[in-house]
Amino acid sequence: MQQETHLPAAPRTGRKVLFAASEAQPLIKTGGLADVAGSLPQALRGLGHDVRLVLPAYPQAVERARQVEKVADLEVREYRARCTILGATLGPEHLPAYLLHAPGVFDRVGNPYVGHDGHDWPDNPFRFTLFSKAVVALARDRVGLGWMPDLVHINDWQTGLVPALLALEPERPATLFTIHNLAYQGVYDRYTFDGLGLPRQLWSVHGMEFHNHVSFIKGGISFSDWVTTVSPTYALEICSPALGYGLEGLLQHRRQRLAGILNGIDYTAWDPAADSALEQHYDADSFELKACNRGALQRDLGLPERADALILGYVGRLVEQKGVDLILQILPRLMVYERLQLVMLGSGHAGLERGLLDAARSHPGRVAACVGYDERLSHRIEAGSDCFLMPSRFEPCGLNQLYSLRYGTVPIVHRTGGLADTVVDATPRNLLRGTATGFVFEHADPDGLWYAVDRALELATRPPAWWHKLAVTGMAQDFSWTASARHYAELYERAIAEPIPNPLR
Ligand code: ADP
Repeated sequence: MQQETHLPAAPRTGRKVLFAASEAQPLIKTGGLADVAGSLPQALRGLGHDVRLVLPAYPQAVERARQVEKVADLEVREYRARCTILGATLGPEHLPAYLLHAPGVFDRVGNPYVGHDGHDWPDNPFRFTLFSKAVVALARDRVGLGWMPDLVHINDWQTGLVPALLALEPERPATLFTIHNLAYQGVYDRYTFDGLGLPRQLWSVHGMEFHNHVSFIKGGISFSDWVTTVSPTYALEICSPALGYGLEGLLQHRRQRLAGILNGIDYTAWDPAADSALEQHYDADSFELKACNRGALQRDLGLPERADALILGYVGRLVEQKGVDLILQILPRLMVYERLQLVMLGSGHAGLERGLLDAARSHPGRVAACVGYDERLSHRIEAGSDCFLMPSRFEPCGLNQLYSLRYGTVPIVHRTGGLADTVVDATPRNLLRGTATGFVFEHADPDGLWYAVDRALELATRPPAWWHKLAVTGMAQDFSWTASARHYAELYERAIAEPIPNPLR
């Protein structure tokens, strides 16, 4: 038991918030959750709240954190687990972070959820139960840090157990649960539930039981004072059978306490005027300089350096959700346009990875495909492309369309979730009014995507002033974290003022 000595002084005003997530930039990232967990706590700290992050001590996370030192021991007796809480700081704001070190549990190199064989680690339910128990111990200050949060902000299924366990405590902080993607639920069979040794009461239709399985995400939804998701449209969509995955009834039941708050983006990391990954900096007033980044990208990827090329970019996980297969399906139609080049970066399902590599092999000089995770290249694709493709079948918020807007790279998106909330379609009317920022299509199928790409190609043949207007209107949009952080802070107050009763009573 140690008192904290390594942490900067907490802001004098504001709430104490423990922010728990299974990944956070710049420590470890597989997707958008990491961007949010890396940025939102900093933005809330900027508003005067004492926010502290907690995440598992993956080796990469420990390596990248600053000022790492042991601050407490934590024994989880029921698992005979002797854990250590490491204190660290993150980023220019010196965000305090706690890393849970549990020997043999999180200290595995590579992806935090998936083994080298591409399958989930079989002990994931145990790993994230242990993590959740550590979050509860921190929230109740059982480790002796002398700091007890007013609210715990938990994220996605990996932390869904936290509000359920807190609800069984005699006293608890308020809780807010954010769903970053309802498709990932942490659902396991009864045998696994029994093996975790969790309180029996949780196995209830009002608790975490879901069709004779245990659902970690259901724990987050049922027991938290407030539930949020990452865009207003996705908040509506998950209340419908199409995107509710059987949880739509529960979400409708909780709709008085369900809100959609758009993610912001970190403009210190994503700013074309200061991005160290770029060949040439530019902003809306020097938009013509963006073309240097197009040339650099072509050189990077071995594409012919044509000044008249129109580059379509894609960066993202290669999973069905993202609609990458739709891009591959319209490839023959795209290739008809001689000046068009396609650049894709991603990793994920083996079949889609193969599809990307085959497309590049079949269309040398026209299609470049990179399989893997490459942060620097993702910035160079954002800057060097003319359009960014996001044909996601569903998209809770999406970050790449926001990066694209800021980089003057016109997004082409399916009208769903956060894409619908952030991109204004280039209809003739919106173009004339100067409100258009991208191309939006209605149906996530090859014809729908093609329809939008075709409209983009058509606009590209018009006088350049039209394209310029569309791109710089996108660049002027403000998706900084400040507005979102204020919205979260408002909900924190409401959650603290009016906690919900335990749904099991
Ligand atoms: P999701 O969380 O569903 O993966 P988001 O659009 O919310 O989708 O966030 C994805 C984030 O991960 C973005 O910052 C994107 O640039 C990044 N990303 C995804 N795949 C890659 C990759 N292969 N290389 C670099 N960055 C990637």
